[in-house]
Amino acid sequence: MIETPVLIVGGGPSGLMLANELGVRGVSALLVDAKPSTAFNPQANATQARTMEHFRRLGFADEIRKLGLPPDHPTDIAYLTRLSTYELARLSLPTSAQAARNVQNMSGSWSAAELPHRISQKYVEPVLKKHAEKWKSNEIRFAWKLNRYERFEDHIKAWIQPIDNSQEEIQVKTLYLIGADGARSQIRQSLGISYVGATGVKRGFMGGQMFAVYFKSSTLYSKIPHPKCWMYVTVNAQRRSLLLSVNGSDEFAFHAAIHEDESADKWTKEDAYSVLAQALGCEVEAEILSHLTWTAGHSLYTERMSDDRIFIMGDAAHLFTPTGGLGYNTAVEDAVNLGWKLASVIKGSGAPRLLETYSLERVPIAKRNTSYAKRFADSVGLFEISDDFELDTAKGRSDRKLASEHFNAHVRLEFNIPGVTFGGRYDSSPIILSENGDPPLDEPNTYTPFAGPGGRPPHFWLGDKLSLYDTFGKDWTLLCTGLVAEKHDKFIEAAIKNHIDLKIIHHPQPELENLYEAALILIRPDQIIAWRGDSDENAFDVIRRVLGWHL
Ligand SMILES: Cc1cc2nc3c(=O)[nH]c(=O)nc-3n(C[C@H](O)[C@H](O)[C@H](O)COP(=O)(O)OP(=O)(O)OC[C@H]3O[C@@H](n4cnc5c(N)ncnc54)[C@H](O)[C@@H]3O)c2cc1C
Repeated sequence: MIETPVLIVGGGPSGLMLANELGVRGVSALLVDAKPSTAFNPQANATQARTMEHFRRLGFADEIRKLGLPPDHPTDIAYLTRLSTYELARLSLPTSAQAARNVQNMSGSWSAAELPHRISQKYVEPVLKKHAEKWKSNEIRFAWKLNRYERFEDHIKAWIQPIDNSQEEIQVKTLYLIGADGARSQIRQSLGISYVGATGVKRGFMGGQMFAVYFKSSTLYSKIPHPKCWMYVTVNAQRRSLLLSVNGSDEFAFHAAIHEDESADKWTKEDAYSVLAQALGCEVEAEILSHLTWTAGHSLYTERMSDDRIFIMGDAAHLFTPTGGLGYNTAVEDAVNLGWKLASVIKGSGAPRLLETYSLERVPIAKRNTSYAKRFADSVGLFEISDDFELDTAKGRSDRKLASEHFNAHVRLEFNIPGVTFGGRYDSSPIILSENGDPPLDEPNTYTPFAGPGGRPPHFWLGDKLSLYDTFGKDWTLLCTGLVAEKHDKFIEAAIKNHIDLKIIHHPQPELENLYEAALILIRPDQIIAWRGDSDENAFDVIRRVLGWHL
């Protein structure tokens, strides 16, 4: 029998990220995943800026930014009738080399430690796995599955086994069981938790069955007579589709809309070539690496993400249509939220009821993010395409002009989303010491830096490449602003008495004081402001409250 405080079922982005969050805090975890290794297919293609900031906190953002598209590969998004014909709309975005440089001069909505990075999930997962494995307290077992589990009052027993059944089942005794086990989550189903929200939404694109092809082609770029992109969306009456560069040279992910009278589940490699040729508007040599079908049109979440000692994360708890690229990023943030709370409770500094706040905080975010993704999917997928769309006639030209206006607006709605990535807030959480007054409006394309408790701390560059976030502690941080730091001894005492690791930092820059509008700011391990004020008078109460002891 194995004994471990945490058993994580699922080694996709959410499970691996949780193993990292626990590993960095020295809390043991066993992770099992039924796949032989990390994802083969590209899957998610966008790592949002907030996710990159979390990777930076854990020390591997630079490693991730070196993977995926080469540093000088454009990350533009373009809408075309076919890949080889008319270009309708384009959003130019920085290459990853430019992003790393530009971020230091950006302000307002994009004031950040990291900008987004275009990288397939298949490259992210091995990095998450490598870093999860570096912690001796973690045991990561791919090609192992959870068979079943039983709940007891103060623990859970689970039975795991190699996927080839080469060994007998092993019993695992654990305090907490985590369902990071994807959309079909056995753990969610065993808890009787169902998805709610919208599903089965039909649209011309991103609503209904999709055919995904992962392929290699060294000549594809030469067939596209337009400046290079990271992502191309084709818009025509025959079939709409999406093409993404995976490695910036010869590997691509392609997703085509399937019509209701087609049976794409039976499609072969030959069908994959012909659908690709439709999108391209000509033939191309390609080696099909894999193909499969999936369904777009979900905007689903669960109304609770935990049940006593069991927690669900990622796709197990919410299912997106991939517009906006939010599924994997929301999954990572679930792990960021749950990780420090589990560690606090296991170490004894956090109240057991602190864990209830995981669901309280993350369900509203799942609802928010799935509805943003739905809005983007409606915007791109409900646009009607006439049969004349590609013709060189007055109607064809006028329809394309309208489409050009629509997609030029749409691409800025879906792909310039600092508000979505930085603006998620936990204002109604009982462990946030909220203030009177409203935070800035929640809008997808605008983020207003705001230091009121409940959200991301406004970002600030302290020097060349030194982000304010780089000076935060691994766990709790007390940020002192102003030329002379306000008295804060009571926070130090409260941290000692409550056995938490609190790093005190003092940054005297007047701009920082203006940004934070307070002398003392308490920042959680997941880089969320928990409290701000001008005196340490109530420090003990504040610390007890943010650790869940007042629930
Ligand atoms: C075609 C496509 C395109 C996408 N594009 C984007 C995008 O651009 N941006 C974005 O953010 N998201 C995108 N996504 C979504 C993204 O891939 C998922 O949201 C993400 O993988 C969810 O991570 P996860 O860790 O929750 O679950 P998963 O990655 O699904 O991992 C779950 C793991 O659990 C394991 N498992 C299940 N049951 C058991 C068991 N009993 N025992 C052991 N292991 C088990 C599975 O083997 C699996 O590895 C896309 C998805 C698809 C399919």
